[in-house]
Amino acid sequence: MRKKMLVANWKMYKTRKEAAEFVRHFLQETEAQQPVEIVICAPFTALADLAVLLKDSGLRLGAQNMYWPDEGAFTGEISPLMLKEIGVGYVLIGHSERRRYFGEEETLIRKKVAAALAHGLKPVLCVGEDEKERHAGRTGEVIQEQLWGALDGLDLKDGLGEKIVLAYEPVWAIGTGTPARGRDADAVAGLIRSLLLKKGYGPVEGVRILYGGSVQAGNIAEFTTQKEIDGALVGGSSLAAADFAALVKAMSDRGGT
Ligand code: PEP
Repeated sequence: MRKKMLVANWKMYKTRKEAAEFVRHFLQETEAQQPVEIVICAPFTALADLAVLLKDSGLRLGAQNMYWPDEGAFTGEISPLMLKEIGVGYVLIGHSERRRYFGEEETLIRKKVAAALAHGLKPVLCVGEDEKERHAGRTGEVIQEQLWGALDGLDLKDGLGEKIVLAYEPVWAIGTGTPARGRDADAVAGLIRSLLLKKGYGPVEGVRILYGGSVQAGNIAEFTTQKEIDGALVGGSSLAAADFAALVKAMSDRGGT
């Protein structure tokens, strides 16, 4: 059975001081033993501090981006080795904000996924259609294009198993207060699993698929009780410790864990 998962994406929010305050409050508000795996994807500047603060807490640490080579003349970039060194275990790849504002495309995304896997970092690979694509009825096509773009040519003959996490994030639902419907998101998560199987990346039963886009404590159960959805990727509602703790509670109480 796949363990449910909650991933916080803090985006470009929180100084080191604010990150430390969040952790202190959050750990006060939540039980030490959780049926949910919790990952905090923090800004680079807070990662080393958080690695220390989260040690023995059961919470996992994630980055929001990385470049793919081990080192080199790439001003402003961070490598997988650097993330590993400070104890990062997860990395968001292909988030729609990286695609949209930083021009990230499939070739780069694929190199990042490959580098993360090669270094034992778990990629949380984000895919999702935008408003226009949704209205044109192209959701399935776009998901397939993005999946193949990110995974094609990778050496995945042992299957994806637990090496990677997928996040279905419809772009129109991110930060808008308008989430997808649970059953629609479940259908896309099911499509993702069947596409992976079709492509020979099986067994896929262990691959966790998250939903992201305007998730809050009041609606999380609509997603995490669906058959194919194993948790949530959360932006806005992960920024305040009380809100994020409420999400964990909602998921533990009635979220299908
Ligand atoms: C995100 O940025 O991945 C996200 C899902 O944001 P929000 O929860 O704010 O919609």
